[in-house]
Amino acid sequence: MHQIVVLGAGTGGTLTANRLRRVYGPGEAVITVIDQDDAHVYQPGLLFVPFGLTHPEDIVRPRGRQLHDGIEYRTTGVDHVDVTDRVVVLADGSMLDYDVLVVATGSVLAPEETEGLTGPGWMDTVFTFYTPEGAAGLEEALRWFDHGRLVVNVVEMPIKCPVAPLEFCFLADWFLREQGVRDAVNLTYVTPLDAAFTKPVAARKLGGMLAERDIELVTEFNTGEVDGPGGRLVSYDDREVPFDLAVVIPAHNGAPCIARSPGLGDELGFVLTDEHTLQSTVAPEIFAVGDGASLPISKAGSVTHFEGEVLVENVQRFLAGRPLDASYDGHANCFIETGFHKAMLIDFNYEVEPLPGHFPSGVGLPLMKESHLNHLGKLMFQWVYWHSLLPGRDIPGIHSAMPTAGKRQPSHT
Ligand SMILES: Cc1cc2nc3c(=O)[nH]c(=O)nc-3n(C[C@H](O)[C@H](O)[C@H](O)COP(=O)(O)OP(=O)(O)OC[C@H]3O[C@@H](n4cnc5c(N)ncnc54)[C@H](O)[C@@H]3O)c2cc1C
Repeated sequence: MHQIVVLGAGTGGTLTANRLRRVYGPGEAVITVIDQDDAHVYQPGLLFVPFGLTHPEDIVRPRGRQLHDGIEYRTTGVDHVDVTDRVVVLADGSMLDYDVLVVATGSVLAPEETEGLTGPGWMDTVFTFYTPEGAAGLEEALRWFDHGRLVVNVVEMPIKCPVAPLEFCFLADWFLREQGVRDAVNLTYVTPLDAAFTKPVAARKLGGMLAERDIELVTEFNTGEVDGPGGRLVSYDDREVPFDLAVVIPAHNGAPCIARSPGLGDELGFVLTDEHTLQSTVAPEIFAVGDGASLPISKAGSVTHFEGEVLVENVQRFLAGRPLDASYDGHANCFIETGFHKAMLIDFNYEVEPLPGHFPSGVGLPLMKESHLNHLGKLMFQWVYWHSLLPGRDIPGIHSAMPTAGKRQPSHT
């Protein structure tokens, strides 16, 4: 009997455990999943909460119920991993041995790392929509916001779903127009990057879309302080952006239990991981999936899904003593909601930046182009998440390897 322990029952832990259960019958492996709570949030839904398009209670389900029969689920915190002794130490002091450990503990928000962010003004004129409470508070604030300066600020990278703050800007533009108050609101996007996004072609496209909507773009702004009472973002190089309402994406770190596990993580607490096999570079029996892995690619549910397919294959190969499959190519795929019932789709990997064309082949969803079809795809994804992605089912036509058919080089006109 193999002892497989999965830390975290979010997107990555759940889909990995369910895929492993399909591969190993109850007589072949004991699969144990640990999470500190029993509330699985469909995080992409948080984007829609501030605009009254969904509600926190509609995007949360019990974690244990997302796991297949035969998987042991324990609700308790992980204190740390003892990599040398191959043991997980739980918050209550009890210990779990493993033959294979899958770390899926995601990323955590660290608002307290930015001066003033959680001080006076937090949840009053300063919010984040990256938590259910923050998104609900912001809905209330936006309902009454009819004039002034609305600022959306990414404090630092990496963050999960790096397109979500841009989507928030596009939806805010749409929402304020629907309310008839857009002319009375200055909308500004403030980012530490040197453009609207990291990849040149997508950055050009998204920057143009901000400009078309009269959303000001402030780049290379490294937020050092959020002054709630004074209504100012202050950068480390003493630039200031004034606001009446600020929507801030706080710094992200790996889970604290990784930082408490000597040798397992990098300086931010993300698990040191091989970018193609998903095996940790620290110990061969440890694998990492999702936001908690230190990979040079966006922290996104789609990435987590594509990684999961390769990781499960590699857990089997590792346990059978066979060479690992090094095929994860950094495939990432994001719907970008752009307002007015449209969305854009981008698809890329470690080597290939988002390109125009169609996904997943010559016929399919338009890439790098706003369309109603993509908006429907974004909305439908919630169903796909609960019923296909988390249960570990393959999604027809969508695979771990990034498709190239249907993509073309952009024209530079
Ligand atoms: C606002 C927003 C919008 C997003 N939109 C999209 C989108 O449109 N498309 C997309 O692909 N992705 C999107 N994402 C990102 C996506 O949700 C994440 O990338 C994905 O959930 C990562 O999965 P994960 O398993 O790595 O982490 P998570 O799903 O966050 O799971 C980590 C789990 O580990 C548990 N854990 C951590 N520490 C401990 C501990 N010490 N003990 C026990 N348990 C612990 C946590 O409780 C949690 O359940 C969005 C995210 C946000 C916040």
